[in-house]
Amino acid sequence: MAKQPSPSLRLWIDSNALAHNWRALDQLSGTANAGAAVKADCYGLGVDRCVPAMRDAGAETFFIAHWNEVEAVAAHVSPQAIAVLHGPSTDDDVRFALEVGAIPVINSLSQAHRWHEAGGELCHLMVDTGINRLGISPYEISDPSIQSLKVDCLMSHLACADEENAMNVRQLAEFRTIISAKSHQRASLANSAGIALGGDYHFNLTRPGLSLYGGIARPELAETIQQVAYPEAAIIQTRQLKAGESVGYNAQFTAPGEMRVGVVSIGYADGFLRSWNAQSDGHLLHGESLLPLLGKVSMDMVVVDLTSRPDLGEGDWLAIPYSLPDAAQQTTLSQYELLTVLGQRFGFL
Ligand SMILES: *Cc1c(COP(=O)(O)O)cnc(C)c1O
Repeated sequence: MAKQPSPSLRLWIDSNALAHNWRALDQLSGTANAGAAVKADCYGLGVDRCVPAMRDAGAETFFIAHWNEVEAVAAHVSPQAIAVLHGPSTDDDVRFALEVGAIPVINSLSQAHRWHEAGGELCHLMVDTGINRLGISPYEISDPSIQSLKVDCLMSHLACADEENAMNVRQLAEFRTIISAKSHQRASLANSAGIALGGDYHFNLTRPGLSLYGGIARPELAETIQQVAYPEAAIIQTRQLKAGESVGYNAQFTAPGEMRVGVVSIGYADGFLRSWNAQSDGHLLHGESLLPLLGKVSMDMVVVDLTSRPDLGEGDWLAIPYSLPDAAQQTTLSQYELLTVLGQRFGFL
């Protein structure tokens, strides 16, 4: 095939900001080391761009969810540095773990049995302290299949670390009981938000994800964490609307008078969901100029008002306002969703 022309969508990943965020979260973790959650292709921002930046900044433990995420991460770090959060659900998972050397997180008695039966040795162990997601229950810690595991990282996960909630203290107390009941090399409780809860939550290893990529998991992090992802889309056509003409699916916007608009190359498949304009005050940016979104996102395109910028036209690039706390407020999506929905069609700057 001929060389592809450059796409009309692009994503700039500020790898200096990413490295800064990892270092900042590592420092905030005090005597604990920060690892890095790199699942879901580094929350949508790309393993090949993000993992080397964090590795070079000093990260040594990398968390993914699925076994099919190992390969991409192992291209940049040793397989033993990779923890697979979903653990071995099938014999095939176990075979793969042993062949490749990535370390499973054991989440249930059946996973523990499966790991033992295959002769698995070093693993991590997840204990559920109240989120009721993955993990053995606290009373299962005394089970022989758990006691006989050789555990590197003994961990649990906070449900409400991003808010003031009595559950944080309850989970902390439960976790303390658990770590005294099972031998391990490292203990780990805090995600990004948990890091900001303070030293009691840090133990030996923290597991930031969201805030590495620019998410403000708690207000305490707002001053420290820098934006990492900067999506942009090109204007691919301009049109002159007459009064009464409408724009996009369901003709939701009607031009009050003659106006010049730009058709911009970004849509649902790129993670630009209709919620961006649900309150009809969404906009894209060119420098300091706010260009209002008109009507609904319509598949691969959205239309903006170019009235304030007659100088802009086909081929000009517009920025999606992706400061995550603000974008979350605008769209009612979570900061996690805003990152992970970014699609596969972006070129990278
Ligand atoms: C995703 C994940 C993290 C990272 O959480 P953030 O809230 O993104 O910082 C940490 N630990 C576990 C077990 C996870 O699944």
